[in-house]
Amino acid sequence: MRIGYGWDSHEFKRGIPLKLGGVHIPYGKGLAGHSDGDVLLHALTDALLGAVAAGDIGAYFPPSDPKWKGADSVVFVREAIKRVHKAGYSVANLDSTLILQEPKIGPHAKKIQERVAKLLGISPSCVGIKAKTPEGMGTGNAAIAHVVVLLNRQGHAGLQTLEAEAEVPQPVVDEVVAKVLEEVPEETPRRIRPLKGRARRE
Ligand code: MG
Repeated sequence: MRIGYGWDSHEFKRGIPLKLGGVHIPYGKGLAGHSDGDVLLHALTDALLGAVAAGDIGAYFPPSDPKWKGADSVVFVREAIKRVHKAGYSVANLDSTLILQEPKIGPHAKKIQERVAKLLGISPSCVGIKAKTPEGMGTGNAAIAHVVVLLNRQGHAGLQTLEAEAEVPQPVVDEVVAKVLEEVPEETPRRIRPLKGRARRE
């Protein structure tokens, strides 16, 4: 198993579309960035790359390269997934937190969850999307994203195995324990010497 963590922030600017987790969200402002400014997908890209120690988003898609101007951030996530698979891992689950004053994420959370799950090829039940407002942080005009991902070795269903083990019926467990106990040799009783005798010798 591997764990990965990613973080990103972008500033709101008028007149550009807002995209979060690959989903267009109707709002008067969007996130300024060299690409489409999708903080959630950028943090996810870094989490995926970090989990396999493959560098960061800037190393693959430098903002100085005009090729990535206005790019759909889905491209970055797809490249990171490629690196994850190449390293012999697959995504087990992810959790994320968005921190922004506006707009409210709640009404769009399900759509974002489904989009991200589809992008990663996992179930929406393995994608956590949470949002908070930046109380006392003074970052009212920015969107911040934190993402953690868990990877499994390909062909090694780590979590599923644990769940399967937990589902072994109790009678089977009891039978195995009884068999193991049968094989343990009985302890040979030691002769107990009277305390008086020992005390006298000492
Ligand atoms: Mg970014």
